[in-house]
Amino acid sequence: MTMPQAKRILLKLSGEVLMGDQQFGIDPAFVAELAREVKRAKDSGLEICLVIGGGNIFRGMAGAAAGMDRAQADYMGMLATVMNALAMQNALEQLGVHTRVQSAVQMDQVCEPVIRRRAERHLEKGRVVIFAAGVGSPYFTTDSGAALRAAEMKCDALLKGTSVDGVYSADPKKDPDAKRFDTVSYDTVLAENLKVMDASAVALCRDNEIPIVVFSIREKGNLARVLAGEGVQTIVRKEA
Ligand code: UDP
Repeated sequence: MTMPQAKRILLKLSGEVLMGDQQFGIDPAFVAELAREVKRAKDSGLEICLVIGGGNIFRGMAGAAAGMDRAQADYMGMLATVMNALAMQNALEQLGVHTRVQSAVQMDQVCEPVIRRRAERHLEKGRVVIFAAGVGSPYFTTDSGAALRAAEMKCDALLKGTSVDGVYSADPKKDPDAKRFDTVSYDTVLAENLKVMDASAVALCRDNEIPIVVFSIREKGNLARVLAGEGVQTIVRKEA
């Protein structure tokens, strides 16, 4: 099963892929490597929206588990995604790729607010639009932010670049019989609680029929391979 034909994609990168081999934070060399992958995809003629998580810096759930107020911790998580967005913007612009960051939490000195029509114009002009701060509300994740922006920007697919090479029937680290799906339906993902994205993000993609392509961004050149329909991936869509 290959990648759906796409003109405009939303690429969601987990914050943890920005750490490289570190345990925490941002590895600029690794961000530069990711930026090269994004540039290659853009040079192939695609319009690209980017959403980057914040888990390499701060996750609201972790703060809440350590006794913080959940909403307060989530706002810190959202700020972490803005830091990652700025790091990616810097890396892309060093490669000559024009970008704009739009944040769901307004931050005028740093980036634009999310304005859909303006984002459209940026894409028309060949800029990569990086959406930061998820949906702008606590109790959500950047996966939901990615699904929301993919829907409102009418993206043909949501590509989730992460540390694993697809969706498995069970945790492959714990279960030797875990099997990777080539395709799987939204309903199966939701009914079996498969680890793809959180349920609200999957449901939003299902309701708007946006295919979700899950692949490992850690291997060099993999984004281009997946876009060419050659890489290892799982496609979540209506019919498996
Ligand atoms: N977050 C939030 N609302 C959003 C998006 C993110 O509250 O719409 C917070 C939440 O605390 C989350 C953190 O930002 O844990 C970082 O995002 P996420 O965990 O999605 O990052 P990833 O796992 O993709 O690195």
